Amino acid sequence: MEQNEIYAALPGVLLPWYEKNARDLPWRHTKEPYRVWVSEIMLQQTRVEAVIGYYERFMEAFPTVQALAEADEARVLKLWEGLGYYSRARNLQKTAKLLTETQNGAFPDTAEALEKLPGIGAYTAGAVASICFEQPAAAVDGNVLRIIMRMTADGRPIDLPQVKKEIGEALCKVYPKGHCGAFTQALMELGACVCTPKSPKCEVCPTQSFCRAYTAGNVTKYPVKRPKAAKKTEERTVLLLECNGRFAVEKRSKTGLLAGLWQFPNVPQKLDAQIAVQTAQSFHTDPKELMLETHKTHIFTHIRWEMTGYVIRCNAMSEAFTWASLAEIEHDFALPTAFRQFSDELKTL
Ligand code: SF4
Repeated sequence: MEQNEIYAALPGVLLPWYEKNARDLPWRHTKEPYRVWVSEIMLQQTRVEAVIGYYERFMEAFPTVQALAEADEARVLKLWEGLGYYSRARNLQKTAKLLTETQNGAFPDTAEALEKLPGIGAYTAGAVASICFEQPAAAVDGNVLRIIMRMTADGRPIDLPQVKKEIGEALCKVYPKGHCGAFTQALMELGACVCTPKSPKCEVCPTQSFCRAYTAGNVTKYPVKRPKAAKKTEERTVLLLECNGRFAVEKRSKTGLLAGLWQFPNVPQKLDAQIAVQTAQSFHTDPKELMLETHKTHIFTHIRWEMTGYVIRCNAMSEAFTWASLAEIEHDFALPTAFRQFSDELKTL
């Protein structure tokens, strides 16, 4: 089969397959752009099983775009806690505010207009335009790229922007009128459940008969990726300052990594215990005893944090920090996973 014939054959086999095999996911019960948009943003970089609970809690708290626009940012971040990539949550709210102020909460119905909104890239714009507005707009993410590279036995690296653009354009040409949303979701479903990265289930794949990689018996050769740059490692010291059952926390700055979230006080580099106690002293906490040293690792997209935590009992609640019990930290503060590891350990002591 020629490459354009492979694309053209996709709707005919994928739509009936999707109708029979689609998983029942909460965001598939609706075509409401607000709900589809939130689900797509949550699903970026996060597994479906992990997203379901977050999605349901988020929708209960903010059932409409107006409710999200009016929400306290701290509450939005708290409900996002653990999903990571917090700029997604901030951009959701920014877009909700913009739509509420300028469009009375209505979403634009084309991928081009959706893509102009904060935090909405080509993928999300294509997903919302096709699923909610039946537009022939492709949503090309890693799953879709992998399927197409295998089906067409394309050995170019998938992280080349040109490759993504070409695939998006080729897919848009074959979007079936009246079934655009189902076609987008069928492609996503095939990538998530059948044409998976490590062990594709070719034996049950509806496109097996025209998949070039399967026919050639070299499925795992695709997709080709360029080697990743090594992650930079940063050492940090985390001061777990305790006074009368409360721990010092502080808000991170409004810009940069984990902007605006809460954290335990921390400094770059690994300090030895004595220097850590002196640092606690410099914050006017009057440290009296070093209780524990503990080590944690957290991996971000480009950086790896190697953290040494010191639990230091103090006599004074310095005004430099907010002091909260572990229960309050758990319920009221958006503490990113990097630091949550420490509070989880403190609860077990
Ligand atoms: S036949 Fe295998 S490699 Fe080809 S699209 Fe299906 S699951 Fe992927």
